[in-house]
Order: sequence, then structure tokens, then C-alpha cells
Amino acid sequence: MPDNPVLQDGVGDSDGLDRLWTPHRMPYLRGENKPLDESSGACPFCRIPSMSDAEGLVVHRGRLAYVVLNLYPYAPGHLLVCPYRHISDYTETADAEAVEIADLTRSAMRVIRAVSGAQGFNIGMNQGSIAGAGISAHLHQHVVPRWSGDANFMPVIGQTKVLPQLLTETRALLARAWPS
Ligand SMILES: [Zn+2]
Repeated sequence: MPDNPVLQDGVGDSDGLDRLWTPHRMPYLRGENKPLDESSGACPFCRIPSMSDAEGLVVHRGRLAYVVLNLYPYAPGHLLVCPYRHISDYTETADAEAVEIADLTRSAMRVIRAVSGAQGFNIGMNQGSIAGAGISAHLHQHVVPRWSGDANFMPVIGQTKVLPQLLTETRALLARAWPS
């Protein structure tokens, strides 16, 4: 299984993103980029905004929050909406931050749907390591597009392979489609 490409069959109808998923050769290193501690200095979500869009895989920059492609997607086009502030819990958001996170989440859904024809979404936040948050110190909302039959992806998550170029293409595709 490790050397087999992820099959496209069963992913669903042909769409703008599934071709970007095709030949995966780079090992998925679980835990790579995981911060050493809870501080903002070690936090990738604090570091990303200082990078270029292409380097950081940033799709859109808002006033209080930004949208970034997940480096370890559960599905093609898997986005994260993050406040710029290094806060861990949803209850710590200021009203304006909560509003902007909600607004960017809606835009993310619209853009992904327009670009890829996603048939559904999983949206949510894992709060705390116990709840599955990989980077629990910095709040992030997952926007995961779903297609009929995409459960076929689930068995391969542990072996997922992603080429950086594919993520770069996906980022550009979504950024171009983002309403200005
Ligand atoms: Zn942070």
C-alpha cells in the first residue's frame, strides 16, 4: 500500500480539485511541524502570517483572522480558519474575531463549492489535545469538503502522501476564486 498512488475511483464526480490529489509520493510525517511547546514563538499558526501566501499556503488574509490550506489535508481543499491572535479556546475570541471566523468560514464554503463542486462539508474545531487538536494552543476552524464516496480516503489517511506542488496549486486555485 505505501507505494501505491491513492486511487481516484470512488472519490465522486470529477471536480477541480481531485486531480490535484493524484500521485502522492511524499511521506506523511505525523507530528511534523508540531510545536515544541504552547508558546506563540513555537506556533506555526503564529508564524504563517509572516510568510508569503505561497510559502505559507495562505488562501486569504482577513483583518482579524486568515484562511490557510491544511498541510495535512483530510481531503483536497481542506482549509483552516485561524485568528491571528494566539488563543486556544473559542470562548477567548473577541466578538469581532468570532464574527470574522464565521464569515471566513462561509466564504471558504462558497469558494470550495464553486471551485470543486463539493457536495458537503465537515466544519468544526477540536478544542484541546484530548479532543484531537493537533496544535491545541492556537484556535483553528476546519473546513473539510466532502464528496460522495470520499470515505474511500479514510483508510489511507495514515499513509497519506502529498506533494507540496499539489498544495501550492490548490492554494492558488482557491485564492483566485476568493471574492475580493
Ligand atoms: Zn499561535
